[in-house]
Amino acid sequence: MLSFSAKTKHELCRVQVTRPCCRTAELYGMLLFAPVFSHREIKLVSEQNAIIRRAAVLLHTVCGVYAEPTASGRRWMLRLTEEDDLRAVLGRMGYDFKSHITYHLNRNILDHDCCPAAFLRGVFLMSGSLSSPEKKCHLEIKTGHAILCREVMSLMLDIGLAPKVTERPTAWLLYWKDSGRVEDFLTMLGATRAAMALMEAKVEKQLRNEVNRQVNCETANLLKVTGASTRQIAAIEKALAVAGLEVFPENLRETVDLRVAHPSASLAELAAMFDPPISKPGLNHRLSRIMEIAERVTQTEP
Ligand SMILES: [Zn+2]
Repeated sequence: MLSFSAKTKHELCRVQVTRPCCRTAELYGMLLFAPVFSHREIKLVSEQNAIIRRAAVLLHTVCGVYAEPTASGRRWMLRLTEEDDLRAVLGRMGYDFKSHITYHLNRNILDHDCCPAAFLRGVFLMSGSLSSPEKKCHLEIKTGHAILCREVMSLMLDIGLAPKVTERPTAWLLYWKDSGRVEDFLTMLGATRAAMALMEAKVEKQLRNEVNRQVNCETANLLKVTGASTRQIAAIEKALAVAGLEVFPENLRETVDLRVAHPSASLAELAAMFDPPISKPGLNHRLSRIMEIAERVTQTEP
């Protein structure tokens, strides 16, 4: 079964991009976060064939470069090594072929307001991952390049996304744990179904917590009820043992019988069992008189 992360990427692979500026931006995001992007070699790798096919189409439409996806183990790959191809791609992304500095963000490629979202879609497709909705929310983007990480972070800040950043032994991570921000990010990239799934999971979790709270509350009430009932029954039984049923006046004997016969009944339940039913305060009054009598009887016992 596909992971939620993979499903989200599949959804993103179906996003139609018609503006040439955004096609370039998305391809640029993929290239910068690909395993290799240099003047000697360009290599894009993914476990998902749809992503590599999308990259191949973009390479062709944006740079006029044709590359055939190949399988390598469980992964799919696009690899460019011919100088003409590399020149075409790097030139299109605004790089001087001789400078050899590729892992920095050329903001000129993202000139229009529409382009950062397309760029970040490319970035996420190539190096992002996302936890499934039932787990704790986490979306991250990984790169091995510190400067690139900083530059993409500042791009994100400029468009109102506020990622957190952390360093791992071999990588830099941009990430969010706040589900609201993850939903915003996914919606911006075009993964509205994935964003919706996160939202639904959040509502479900809230409902479940609400139900748990209610159950806990009911359990606490039940314990309170049985606590009082246990004390009453113990006192009644002690009094009965010492002095017999006669110690209680006639009008309290029904109450004594019912209390002892229904130890887990609440006051309301017990009050309803009388024939005719009595009120809760009325029952409360009778029970406290019974307790008084029981205590008096058992205290006078030497
Ligand atoms: Zn654009």
